[in-house]
Amino acid sequence: MNQFLRSWQKFDVTEVGKHLMILGDSNGDCASCRELGINPWKAKECPQCHTAFQFIASRRLVEHPGERFSVAHRVHEARPDLQMIDYDDYQKTVGADKARDFFKT
Ligand SMILES: [Zn+2]
Repeated sequence: MNQFLRSWQKFDVTEVGKHLMILGDSNGDCASCRELGINPWKAKECPQCHTAFQFIASRRLVEHPGERFSVAHRVHEARPDLQMIDYDDYQKTVGADKARDFFKT
């Protein structure tokens, strides 16, 4: 019986951010250059900055957590080449890193 379980893994968040597509309601955004309106089911790279996508995170899950399994299923079926990460985790980690950099200077 194969089901989705979220697991924890350490990532270089800067590297993830360079290769991350953020999935909105129907389109994707490039986390690297902020290009909008990317086809999340087809785009292998950002049409603007040409970064190759390796990760995907869904913004929608923050507001609709009940959809996480259907979104995970759809991503897994349509984009087996992308690793799905949690948008909230990513945003919080990036925010914490930015705050740390800010206080360092
Ligand atoms: Zn881009």
